[in-house]
Amino acid sequence: MRIGAALGLGILIAASGIQGGESPDPQPAVVVVDAGHGGADYGARGLDDLLEKDVTLDVAQHLGWALERAGYTVVYTRGSDRFVSLVERTEIANRAEGSLFVSLHGNASSDPEVGGIETYFLSKDATDEEALRLAEVENAYLQESRVFPGSESIVGNILQDLVWTAHLERSSRLASEIQRRLARLPGPSRGVRQAPFVVLMGVNMPAVLVEIGFLTHPVEGRRLREKPYLRAIATALGEAVRAYQEKEEEGPR
Ligand SMILES: [Zn+2]
Repeated sequence: MRIGAALGLGILIAASGIQGGESPDPQPAVVVVDAGHGGADYGARGLDDLLEKDVTLDVAQHLGWALERAGYTVVYTRGSDRFVSLVERTEIANRAEGSLFVSLHGNASSDPEVGGIETYFLSKDATDEEALRLAEVENAYLQESRVFPGSESIVGNILQDLVWTAHLERSSRLASEIQRRLARLPGPSRGVRQAPFVVLMGVNMPAVLVEIGFLTHPVEGRRLREKPYLRAIATALGEAVRAYQEKEEEGPR
């Protein structure tokens, strides 16, 4: 049913393009910016008590401003230091009928030598054990129901949905655009990876989760408390969203 609606919309857009000129300006894309954690949920804790929830909020605000300047409508899942459950985050995104969902997180490791930036999109199967463990940590604040770990039914159902398959392809392309730009920042690129993140499961739009660095790495952790570095991450994310959107509008390649 939703596929039919989507096809109908596609035909409508194509038809208005053929007629040319008279159609109203297209609605600006709605980007949902999700600052991970918040309130009592600190997320990862890094060097000198650097908290993931503070880092993600800073980057989210600057990403939002960059996107607004570029003409996007931005919806935030949180704009202050408060707790928002994972399910609430997906509900905010779906209510806003977002075009894209970008979830921001910071990483941690017991090994201080582990560092780097990585971008995830949803998968039933994690890229590797490390990705699965990360998803378990990021999903830990899911309190509404125990859909994870142990139950694959929700993810399985989502992946069987053809509409979601289309989202996965777009999510993959968005993740690639993001990771390519973030890889230009100092520090190693850990690439595009996949894992079963709950916050990505419920959103009905292309969605990615960006781990912007390891708070526990001695160099990266220090960098992640520097405002200019966080601005550079936000700027790169904004450029990636714009590049992704432009390519999508050009149509199938
Ligand atoms: Zn996180």
